[in-house]
Amino acid sequence: MSQPDVIALLKKAKENNNHFTFLVGAGLSAESGIPTFRGEDGYWVIGSKNYHPQEMATRQMFTKHPKEVWEWYLSRIKAYGKSIPNEGHYALVEFEKHLQGQFSLVSQNVDGLNLKAGNSIDHFYPIHGDLTFIRCFNECSDELYKIRDFFNPEEEITKETFDRLVCPKCKGITRPHVLWFDEAYDEKFYRLNSVLEIAEKTDVLFTIGTTGTTSLPHHIFQTALQNRTLIIDINPDDTIFSQVLYEYDNGFVIREKSGSALPKILKRMKI
Ligand code: NAD
Ligand code: ZN
Repeated sequence: MSQPDVIALLKKAKENNNHFTFLVGAGLSAESGIPTFRGEDGYWVIGSKNYHPQEMATRQMFTKHPKEVWEWYLSRIKAYGKSIPNEGHYALVEFEKHLQGQFSLVSQNVDGLNLKAGNSIDHFYPIHGDLTFIRCFNECSDELYKIRDFFNPEEEITKETFDRLVCPKCKGITRPHVLWFDEAYDEKFYRLNSVLEIAEKTDVLFTIGTTGTTSLPHHIFQTALQNRTLIIDINPDDTIFSQVLYEYDNGFVIREKSGSALPKILKRMKI
C-alpha cells in the first residue's frame, strides 16, 4: 500500500475511536545524540576487559561490581541530562493531544526524553524504567527517588558520588530504576499487566526505532499481528518487525528517521 492509503486508514481509525499505541525504542532518541545499543558507544571497560551493555545492565554484574555499574549509569545519566528531545519526541506529544484518550506511548527508552518533551505520565509506559529515578536495591519500599536529588548530571563523577547514592529510608545501597537483562517485567515497576491490556486493545500500532529484540515489545507486535491490527514501522533500517511486515497485508514500512517521518504523518492526518 502507498503512503496516501496509510494516512486515510489512520484518519478513519481516529474517527472510529480506535486505540493507537506507539512502541518506541532507542532509535527515537538517536537524533537527540543518544547512541543506540547498535551504536559503537555502548562498551565499558572494567579492569582490562571490555563489556557490552547486555553484560553491564544485569543484576549479576551489579551484585559483583556495584560501583563500576553505577559509574556506567552515571555516565549515561550525565549524557542524557544534556540531551534535548527531537522532532520525533515532540511529534509524539502532538499525537497525544490529537488522539486524546485513544493514545498510549510504550517506551523502551530510559533517557527521560518523552516526559521532558511533554507527553503526560497518564498515557506513558516506560517498560524498561527511567534513569531519571533510582530506588532501593533491597526494596525496603517501592518508592522512586529523583536522581537529581543525589547527583547533578553537570557534576563530575568521583568516589564520593557513589557514597551519596544511599536509600533515604534504610540507608542501604540504591540502584538505577531500570529493568536489567537478567530480570523479569512486572506491574509494580514496569507496568507489565497494563501494557498487556493495551496490546490487546490496540487497533493501530506504530513501532518506531526499535529492533524488537526484547520480549515485551515482541509480544506487543505478535499480539497486533494475531489481532490483524494496522501496523506501521518507522526505521531507516530493516528489523525483525519490518521483515514480517513486508509479508503482512495490514502493515506499512516507512524507511525514514522518526524525527522526520512522525511530524509528516501527523501533519497529513490533521488535514
Ligand atoms: P536498538 O539499539 O536495539 O535499535 C535501535 C533501532 O533504531 C535500530 O533498528 C536502528 O535502525 C533504529 N534507528 C536508528 N536511528 C533512527 C532514527 N533516527 N529514527 C528511527 N529509527 C532509528 O534499540 P531498542 O530496540 O530500543 O533496544 C535496545 C534496548 O536498549 C532497549 O531495551 C532500551 O531500553 C535500551 N536503550 C535505551 C536507550 C535510550 O534510553 N535512549 C539507548 C540505548 C539503549
Ligand atoms: Zn531501602
